[in-house]
Amino acid sequence: MKDTAKHQGLRNQLVTLLEQKGITDKNVLEAIRKIPRHLFLNSGFEDYAYQDKPFPIGAGQTISQPYTVAFQSQLLEVKKESKILEVGTGSGYQTAVLYAMGAKVYSIERQNELFKSTSLLLPKLGIRPKHLSFGDGYKGLPNYAPYDGIIVTAGAPLIPKPLMAQLKIGGRLVIPVGEESRSQIMTLLIRRDETRFEKHELGEFRFVPLLENKN
Ligand code: SAH
Repeated sequence: MKDTAKHQGLRNQLVTLLEQKGITDKNVLEAIRKIPRHLFLNSGFEDYAYQDKPFPIGAGQTISQPYTVAFQSQLLEVKKESKILEVGTGSGYQTAVLYAMGAKVYSIERQNELFKSTSLLLPKLGIRPKHLSFGDGYKGLPNYAPYDGIIVTAGAPLIPKPLMAQLKIGGRLVIPVGEESRSQIMTLLIRRDETRFEKHELGEFRFVPLLENKN
């Protein structure tokens, strides 16, 4: 596994593009500048790793487009030591970006194949999430709750109640909401108190579906 000056140059170009597309959080941009996205893709796609596009990662899943990763990460307002839950570990790229931003990351994945391969990959790259879990992210990860932020990286038909319950007061939940065949609306919920959540809708995106049951 190699990260070369050429890859770094391509990452710098990608960061410039993300800035042009409206990403302003320096912490997000520096994390994307640092994380070698090409090492999260199946070999063969290496050359495309720094284009702003999603790619297949096996098990019928995709690594999100860099702009989407940046947009969701920015909405989380991650601070050093923020406790963040990610639903849909997938390739681990988003996990790595959050880790590079200084977050304590908890992540859950329902596809065993991806869970296993990503659990092996991340430590090899020096990326140390607090906990990687295999299971159904609709339920969140109650053992480690509450979280400063929760990011869902698959399209959900509705906002799972357990995720809302696992947010700290002031915490932020970033989730694409919509029917699986169509596009989803990026939704930000900010928890104001025990019962009140402020909702913001932030445009259309397209994700693979958040699946409830394993088949
Ligand atoms: N964050 C990932 C994106 C992967 S795509 C990355 O950067 O690569 C979305 C992921 O969500 C897939 O890996 C899919 O298997 C997973 N997923 C779908 N439904 C899920 C659920 N209910 N619980 C946990 N993970 C789920």
